[in-house]
Amino acid sequence: MNLHEYQGKNILENFGVGIQRGFIASSPKEAINSAKKLTELTNTKFYVIKAQIHAGGRGKGGGVKLAKSFRDVENISKDIIGMSLITPQTPPEGKKVSKILIAEDVYYSGESEPKEFYVSILLNRSIGKNMIMYSTEGGMDIESVADKTPHLIFNEEIDSAMGLLPFQARKIAFNLGLKGKAFKSMIKFISNLYKAYVGSDATLFEINPVLKTADNNIIAVDAKVSIDDNALFRHPDYIELRDFEEENPVEVEADKAGLNYVDLDGNVGCMVNGAGLAMATMDLIKQSGGAPANFLDVGGTADAKRVELAFRLILKDPNVKAILVNIFGGIVRCDRVAQGIIDAYKNIGDNIKVPIIVRLQGTNSESAKTLIQNSNLDVIAATAFEEAAIKVQEVLG
Ligand code: GDP
Ligand code: MN
Repeated sequence: MNLHEYQGKNILENFGVGIQRGFIASSPKEAINSAKKLTELTNTKFYVIKAQIHAGGRGKGGGVKLAKSFRDVENISKDIIGMSLITPQTPPEGKKVSKILIAEDVYYSGESEPKEFYVSILLNRSIGKNMIMYSTEGGMDIESVADKTPHLIFNEEIDSAMGLLPFQARKIAFNLGLKGKAFKSMIKFISNLYKAYVGSDATLFEINPVLKTADNNIIAVDAKVSIDDNALFRHPDYIELRDFEEENPVEVEADKAGLNYVDLDGNVGCMVNGAGLAMATMDLIKQSGGAPANFLDVGGTADAKRVELAFRLILKDPNVKAILVNIFGGIVRCDRVAQGIIDAYKNIGDNIKVPIIVRLQGTNSESAKTLIQNSNLDVIAATAFEEAAIKVQEVLG
């Protein structure tokens, strides 16, 4: 589950990580109130208005703006709320902004120059350890830093049993070139950030930029946070942080029905029981010249209702030119699945405009095939895996 910047920052703050503070708003009026509250809390002179969407590069797309007065706050909020923000990380049509964060200006001048760093924490699966990636080159695209100046990116591997050790936090602060108060502040920042990462069951923290302020405090100016979905049961308070507006609507609907659905780019819709068979089916479609339009595991109870819903979900994708149903009847009986397909077909009716190739193998597969053939529906029955693939190829032309 991906979080918005303001939600990620809340989690960081709860673990004692220094952040650029702010209040959320969804109208220009709320924005002004947020700005007033913020000045009372922080004494900030200026405000940064930040569009809350699940994509980075907002600054480049005009989604992060500095406001120097309440009037600026009002005007900028009017511009940003409701806009379709296009950044290098959004789809070409952009993402609609419904919330903005009114944040304190933390790039003020003082005893030293503000300086931006990059820090992320992630699981490195190849070594089975968490890893802190960090760089002196903050505030910009980390991909282009990795491309042009890879020697400016450091990695620190963390042993899960030991956790982050004090010498590692010191090493990071040292490699970032910090001294004195900023050095100490960075150690505290990194230690608490790591605690927050583990404590929130995150799969990714990316803080870009981490800022050394003019008075040598270290704070998170941005926060990209992903939480492990499988750990959400340990954090009931995080569940409401999910923003369905940011997710693929078909995937959300499938999820609510307990179906495992992932949208893909191809033209062959797949309905399969079991994740392994679903993967094999996708391979087979590729080999026969098509491309899967989705991954869909209908699970062990492929009953009529689930089959119907699965068809409806697949048919929402306008790219689908054929549907391949590939069911292995182990516990689930093929004749029941066949009946489910026939019922679904009747219920959905004329809206099924694409050919359906059905391969049912296993328990009662013969009677299933007979049922389908006798149904007079536009459904092509196949018994063998390869046979199904060839039939898909035929209908795609
Ligand atoms: P992103 O573009 O989506 O990564 O959004 P960020 O939160 O990283 O902000 C983008 C850029 O806005 C930062 O790199 C800063 O240069 C600028 N910015 C963020 N906060 C402030 C601030 O408090 N004051 C000023 N002057 N600039 C800021
Ligand atoms: Mn950023």
